[in-house]
Amino acid sequence: MDEKNVRYSNRSPRRMQKRRRKQFPWEIMLALIAVVAAFLFVFMTVIDQLSVLTALPPGESAAGVPSTWDEAPTDDPAEGSPAVADDTDWNLVLVNDQNPIPENYEPDLVEVAGGEKVDRRIYDPLMEMLEAAKEGNWDQLPMVVSGYRTQEKQQSLYDDKVKKYEKQGYSKEEAKEMAEQWVAVPGYSEHQIGLAVDINGATYDVYLWLQANSYKYGFIFRYPGYKTDLTGVAEEVWHYRYVGVEAATEMYEQGLCLEEYLVERQRENET
Ligand SMILES: [Zn+2]
Repeated sequence: MDEKNVRYSNRSPRRMQKRRRKQFPWEIMLALIAVVAAFLFVFMTVIDQLSVLTALPPGESAAGVPSTWDEAPTDDPAEGSPAVADDTDWNLVLVNDQNPIPENYEPDLVEVAGGEKVDRRIYDPLMEMLEAAKEGNWDQLPMVVSGYRTQEKQQSLYDDKVKKYEKQGYSKEEAKEMAEQWVAVPGYSEHQIGLAVDINGATYDVYLWLQANSYKYGFIFRYPGYKTDLTGVAEEVWHYRYVGVEAATEMYEQGLCLEEYLVERQRENET
């Protein structure tokens, strides 16, 4: 019995009914509003999830977006290294010397200051980061000197690097091995998915600033020297990769590179 009923229990039943009838519509109204609000909330959440799954750049097929990722070669699961992350996590696509870019990957590109291009989805966080990085760069906007690369571009960079070492007297095999420390084999470069940028600063301080702050904008210092064994790439202080704020923060706080983070994540999903 609630307080209301106690309070009115001395009154005549007829009067109680009258009181109740008077209050009745308000209770119903409030309940209805609550139900409608709850329904709207659930509905919006579902729509939000769906739009993430179905959002494709206009005029483009599903190339490079989740549906084709299934076809990408996968590593032996026993090695614990997923070729790609969860289907919906475009920001966590793993590209390294073991994992090529997904087949027919065609990012929707947008130009940044200086003429380089990046995936449209990382434009805003990238510009915010560069703007903030001015404080570590003598108040100058750091430049993106390399963004998205086509297969042809990556091939020519790779060939040039190999030739350079051959000219120094190394054999073709040696030259290739040395070149691959610096330039990814075509088809295996993060630059080919439009989510990586090489940043050029006016001073070295900007790289220290980026190492300490990039995660706040969703970017990671992708190739630290102490992770070369795992990334397959020598230290590159200028190379930053977008993975989203959540993943970047976790990787920053736990000192994980992308390869390690994806293994951890898969392990968590399995348990
Ligand atoms: Zn790079």
